[in-house]
Amino acid sequence: MVGVLALQGDFREHFDVLKKLGVTAIPVRLPEDLERVDRLIIPGGESTTIGKLLITYKLLTPIRNKIKKGMPVWGTCAGAILLAKHIAGSAKDQPQIGLMDITARRNAFGRQLDSFEARVTMKNIQRKPIPVLFIRAPVFEKPGKNAHVLARLSDKRIIAARQGKILITAFHPELADATEELHRYFLSL
Ligand code: GLN
Repeated sequence: MVGVLALQGDFREHFDVLKKLGVTAIPVRLPEDLERVDRLIIPGGESTTIGKLLITYKLLTPIRNKIKKGMPVWGTCAGAILLAKHIAGSAKDQPQIGLMDITARRNAFGRQLDSFEARVTMKNIQRKPIPVLFIRAPVFEKPGKNAHVLARLSDKRIIAARQGKILITAFHPELADATEELHRYFLSL
């Protein structure tokens, strides 16, 4: 059973992709929802808001514990920021799940370039580049020795990485046309 954290952000689009793949998924809004799922997608949105809602809905610690016990988790954009151990470019302390040994630099592309589409190739996952969207996206820096870089922009900045069963992507594959490949990859973890 796949769960998609559904407190804020673009969770609906993840459900659409999962549906296309014929996978049953449920929205996770409460601790009892979390108990039913074997893997979790944390969508994009606003990471400070999602973090605060995780505390309000008493999900922060249960999610962290479940990931520590081996539950596969995929954070896209804001979800990736929440999973990173270190956050840069944040005005003040924000709630974190904080398990991936990497730094997420928020809003790394500045205001003038809030959103763009790019083609990315994920190392050892796909052969052909796939179109994905960056929306006020982070980049990742200083990966620890267990964090494997999966994709970089042409200027070498890191945009996807994996540590065990924790997958993070700075971009949104679920908002771009014609790709379920990364969802398939996540389901294989
Ligand atoms: N800029 C947002 C943040 O810092 C992330 C944007 C997104 O998820 N598309 O939380």
